[in-house]
Amino acid sequence: MTAPGAAADAAWFTEQHAQSGSAFGLRIKARVHAEQTPFQSIEIFETTDWGMLMVIDGCTMVSSRDNFLYHEMMSHPALFSHPRAKRVVIIGGGDCGTLHEVLKHEEVERAVQVEIDERVTRLAEQYFPELCASNHDPRAELLFVDGIAYMAEQEPESIDLVIVDSTDPVGPAEGLFNAAFYASCHKALRPGGILVQQSESPLVHLDLIKAMRTAMRMAHFQAVRTLTFPQPLYPTGWWSCTMARKHADLTDFRERGAATRQFATRYYSVETHKAALALPPFVREALGE
Ligand code: SAM
Repeated sequence: MTAPGAAADAAWFTEQHAQSGSAFGLRIKARVHAEQTPFQSIEIFETTDWGMLMVIDGCTMVSSRDNFLYHEMMSHPALFSHPRAKRVVIIGGGDCGTLHEVLKHEEVERAVQVEIDERVTRLAEQYFPELCASNHDPRAELLFVDGIAYMAEQEPESIDLVIVDSTDPVGPAEGLFNAAFYASCHKALRPGGILVQQSESPLVHLDLIKAMRTAMRMAHFQAVRTLTFPQPLYPTGWWSCTMARKHADLTDFRERGAATRQFATRYYSVETHKAALALPPFVREALGE
């Protein structure tokens, strides 16, 4: 666990990302928990400078220090792109950080978190209590089932927003990245409804982002947009989410609502929302925008 070049007495957790030939490491004080669930391996580390760290199947998931970047950008751009999202479903997201952001919106009447692995949430409650602060909100419902099956069973036109806050497209999350899953989401969404999904790094996963966008269009979503934002914990440190909208476009968002929001955010603002939508030329070109 000691990285070459590090002080001899320092321990590091390092995630090597083979596809991009890069690695990201955090100096740790101790590994405080490790277990194998029926779905994946979960480890919790206490770091020297980034608070707690959750690792699933060797991949960094959440740190206390930088999770706000991801959780805010997975929630607020989509919620401010919808006129009034009353019913929200989060697929994955077991650390509960996205749920916490979603419930900051008073227009949300019900938010269902559909996480396949209950242990992720139980460990988040223990080691990331700040992310779980809204778990007992009367509008919140926590289910521990497969998100693919859950979406296939939903009543047509019953949901306003689906947020897919999943692990990478391998293992239990693989089926969350294809046209069949998007078709279930499209059917379950009301007209004007939005699907938003974490879509990996614009620097190394452009082929995946392109395939996701094609599959979303195949599932009859009318408008598709990709947003980018920093996320040091994930490979390359630059991440994205992709939004798709049913029977409506994604050209504008509720700028006034975002500017006058009655809750605190640390990364999200009208300006960072606009900045996230401004794709650099190489990304626009690769995505055919
Ligand atoms: N922010 C993280 C990222 O981009 O890597 C994801 C964090 S969250 C912990 C991801 C969650 O998705 C995991 O807890 C995992 O158990 C869950 N998950 C994976 N496949 C799933 C599925 N088919 N249905 C529901 N949850 C799923």
